[in-house]
Amino acid sequence: MQKKSPSPSGSGSPQSAGHVHSHPKHYCGVFGIYGHPNAAELTYYGLYQLQHRGQESAGIVSTDGRQFYVHRGMGLVPNIFNGEVLHTLIGSSAIGHTRYSTTGSSNLVNAQPLTVDCGKGKIAIGHNGNLTNAAALREELESRGSIFQTTVDSEIIVHLLALPAGSGGHESTLINAVRRIEGAYSLVILTENELIGVRDPHGFRPLSIGRMSNGAFVLASETCAFDLIQAEFIRDVEPGEIVIIDTNGLRSVQAFPEHTRRAFCIFEYVYFARPDSNISNRNVYRVRVDMGRQLAREHRIEADIVVPVPDSGNCAALGYSLESGIPFEMAFVRNHYVGRSFLQPSQFIRDFNVRVKLNLIGDLVRGKRVIIVDDSIVRGTTSKARVTSLKEAGAKEVHVLVSCPPHMNPCVYGIDFPERSKLMAATNTHEEIRRFLNADSLGYLSLDGMVAATGHPRNSFCLACYDGQYPVAFDPLMDKHIMERRRARGGGLGLELAAESRHQRLL
Ligand code: AMP
Repeated sequence: MQKKSPSPSGSGSPQSAGHVHSHPKHYCGVFGIYGHPNAAELTYYGLYQLQHRGQESAGIVSTDGRQFYVHRGMGLVPNIFNGEVLHTLIGSSAIGHTRYSTTGSSNLVNAQPLTVDCGKGKIAIGHNGNLTNAAALREELESRGSIFQTTVDSEIIVHLLALPAGSGGHESTLINAVRRIEGAYSLVILTENELIGVRDPHGFRPLSIGRMSNGAFVLASETCAFDLIQAEFIRDVEPGEIVIIDTNGLRSVQAFPEHTRRAFCIFEYVYFARPDSNISNRNVYRVRVDMGRQLAREHRIEADIVVPVPDSGNCAALGYSLESGIPFEMAFVRNHYVGRSFLQPSQFIRDFNVRVKLNLIGDLVRGKRVIIVDDSIVRGTTSKARVTSLKEAGAKEVHVLVSCPPHMNPCVYGIDFPERSKLMAATNTHEEIRRFLNADSLGYLSLDGMVAATGHPRNSFCLACYDGQYPVAFDPLMDKHIMERRRARGGGLGLELAAESRHQRLL
């Protein structure tokens, strides 16, 4: 494709960001490609496939080996990029990012990939995850003169990468940088002549390697991105692994050879990842169907139909139906055009917001004993609304089943669960939740049942939101202390960071 003249630092114009969210949101998707003449276009399609992982902002950085070409914007991928913009993103390598902010407020300056031009050349980075020692590292770097331009924790990684190389050269800078950061990170990094992929030693977030028919390497948060661009899946990036892709091909460095504890976020299987993705050699759709089958084995209910809460409950409801023999009905019809920018919520508007997304085919449920299946209950709003509409339509009984255990704890590794006080299961007994939902019965999948459905051992997962065992320590008090010192020094960014720190601690 013929490209237009370059615009090395062009930036997307901000679009309306005044969204109001009725429940918690997704986090980030990353993509990278090395060695393809249509790198930017392929990144665009890759990001399209990763849109479910973040809808607040997106960006692409490409390189022709000399310059970086950048475009970022607020909103959805197809609204940020068009043919004209993609033509300005020159070069055969690129990285891209879709973002929902888990740290840093939501504005264009925080949109990724982040770029810097430093003594080592140009570096761009896209980050999925959440660092648990961000405040302390930032404090340390600032005290040594680093000047930060954003409020996202990912910028810390850029600063660490920009530090002068020690005697070990480039690879040891990379290793030293990733050994300083803690928490969850799947990274794509672009330099003028390399694409680099990194996964934290616990492997909290997914990252896979694929290959195009022309030999170009691709990296993506989820394998569904490979399907669209017809890349062949090669393998997952291993926890703790750094893959460096350049003209010599792909080489791999293990930055944490001593580390053995794995902690993949099981909620990726339960809810976040797309069902057409494969993670650790297991297809997400199949895992969710197996969760539904397991749910049926654990909660045998006499009912006439099984109804999913679309789309999140689809696979588990199907599994329940297959295992129990109770017919599956898509009684809720989803309005696919419900965007994210709702009217400001008065109670009147909020009621409509909940109902506009799903409409019930009343005829299917009238007089019936209905099981509804969803993947999770967080605040309880969604399930309560579904039970209400089923009962209003004349369902005789409504049984609520959830394809994971109760969410008891917030996530500090990148999933936006609300603070503990807003987690339904953390503050209410089982019976109180059932009554709140107005359900005839309520059942959750057991922790063992959920893990069994993945086919992987329990100790390969992070289960903190269920069992409170956080694989990487975090010290909210230390963060608080640092942020307070920063606030005492005054200044807008300090205040902003302090506000974020409160949000990020989630405790
Ligand atoms: P709630 O109404 O707060 O109980 O939300 C539960 C619904 O939100 C379920 O249908 C889930 O599929 C979905 N959900 C759960 N966790 C998240 C999350 N972190 N981000 C976005 N949606 C979520």
